[in-house]
This record gives sequence, C-alpha cells and structure tokens, in this order.
Amino acid sequence: MLTVFGSVALDTIRTPSRTIKNALGGAATYAAISSSFFQKPGLIAVVGSDFPKGYRSLLGKFVDTRGVVSKDGRTFRYDGSYDQTMSMRKTNKTELNVLKDFKPVVPEEYRKSEFVYLANNDPAQNTRIIREFDRVRFSMCDTIDFWISTKRSDVIKMMGVVDSVVINDEEARLLTKAHNLIKAAKKIMEWGTRFVIIKKGEHGSLLFYDDVVFPSPAFSLENIVDPTGAGDSFAGGMVGYLASKNSTRLSAIREAAIYGNVMGSFAVERYGTAGLVSLKREQIAGRFRRYKKMVHF
Ligand code: AMP
Repeated sequence: MLTVFGSVALDTIRTPSRTIKNALGGAATYAAISSSFFQKPGLIAVVGSDFPKGYRSLLGKFVDTRGVVSKDGRTFRYDGSYDQTMSMRKTNKTELNVLKDFKPVVPEEYRKSEFVYLANNDPAQNTRIIREFDRVRFSMCDTIDFWISTKRSDVIKMMGVVDSVVINDEEARLLTKAHNLIKAAKKIMEWGTRFVIIKKGEHGSLLFYDDVVFPSPAFSLENIVDPTGAGDSFAGGMVGYLASKNSTRLSAIREAAIYGNVMGSFAVERYGTAGLVSLKREQIAGRFRRYKKMVHF
C-alpha cells in the first residue's frame, strides 16, 4: 500500500495570463492524485471548515480520504506568482492556518503501507509520522524554501529518516549552500538518505545514488499553462509507479523517475489540478512511449 502525507491547500496562482483563486492545491493533493494512476493511495492531511465539499468529493474519486481530518479554522493557503518565463515563482503568502500544530495520526488501515511519500509539509511533522508506520520499504520526502528558511535543522533531520529526497534545484542550493548540484546531492546523502532526485523544472531531473547520476530530460512541451504542483506530481508518479510494481530495485527506481517526468508534464498543461484529474491511463502510457522515442539514440 501507498500513503501520502502533506499539505492540502486552497491556492491562489497568478500567471501572466490569468489568476485563479481558492483552487484545490497542496503538495499532497498533487502527489496523491498523480500516484493514483498507478496505485490508489491513502491520504493523510488536515483541512479547515472552509474546505469546499466539492473538493473533498473530487479527492475521494482518486484517493482514500479516511486520513483527511477536518479542523475548525481555515485551510492552509498558498499564494504564488509566475513571471513571463513561467519558470520563476515568487511566493506572495503562505498561511499555515490548520496546518500549524497539526498532530497527524496514521489511520490503522494505513499503518502497513510499504511505500510512503512525505510531501511538502512541516518537516518535524514528517519526521514524526514516518515512525508510525510498521514496515516501510521505500519512503520519499520533499521540501520547499519556506521550511528551509524557517526550520532548516528539522529539514535536515527529516532527510536522515527517509530513503529518498526529491527537491528542486534552487531549494537544493538554498539548503546545502552548494551551488554545484552534484555537491548538493552528495551533501544531502551525507545526512542519511540513499537517493536524491534534483528536479530542474523544464530541464528534467537528476537522480543520484551511490556514485551514479541518472539524468532524465523533461518531456518537451510547447505550452506550459501553470507549473504549480509539477514537482509533487513528479514525486507522486515516482512512488506510485514503485508501489504498483512493489519494487525498490534500482532499475525500477530509474524507470520511476521517467514516470515522474511524464506525470509532471501533464500537471503543467492546465491550471491547478485540471491537468491531472482529466487524465486517462492510456495517455500516460502513450506519453511514456513517446518519451522513450524522444531520448533514444
Ligand atoms: P510545487 O509547485 O510542486 O512546488 O508545489 C506547489 C504546491 O505546494 C501548492 O499547491 C501549495 O499549496 C503547496 N505549498 C506551497 N508552500 C507550501 C509549504 N510551505 N508547505 C506545504 N505545502 C506548500
């Protein structure tokens, strides 16, 4: 079984052509929906009393929502703007709301999960929750500049208790203070994780383990509408694929990174979660085949 833990949010996303407000977002939302195309995950998250019923039922179509708790107060909110290039994002506001001081509990039904993804969230909560699972075979975590700036030592601790870390290039540099990405990945591995995946947005990703680096380009797209959640969809695709194969072999992990790229590419083609929720399995398989052709030489 696969469990995803992290933020479920109401996002405001500002792109040069459009602003969308109160969209269903959150790192765990994107990751869980993305992974569901490979294996239906259990989702652990907190929402506020203002969380729309329609969003809850949409989530319920893709994931097991028994771990989603509702608390009095406002849902976590994120507000970000993209520049003309659509590759630089500025955070305008992060409102933790019910996420602050949340004490997550792993539902009994999820405890036996062998695959666990700790999406962007308070790193101290992430570190605490991973211990509550009985037999994790493969865990992965992500982080974001907000947590690196406010809880850096907790971020480092979290990276010591998981098997893999997925992080974007700017955040890897910010966290490790190393400009070179190989140096940054090595530093993160020194903190205790075995695999490091550095995402480079439209330029794809680098997977590091032992002395190996496995680069993979992003699926080339002409029109990028909204990059929000691309990283989370990437990670969800990776862990979802591994869970569906029930494998942690190196060959499966490399292949999973390619599925990560494929899922990220669908996420950016439409606003918010629209690119994912409208997706069909055949489209994933088709894009995976085209990706294979694209990189063949
Ligand atoms: P990504 O574009 O992959 O970096 O992920 C964007 C998603 O992460 C948005 O839907 C946000 O709601 C969520 N997010 C942004 N900041 C944070 C944060 N500090 N903690 C948890 N989730 C966040």
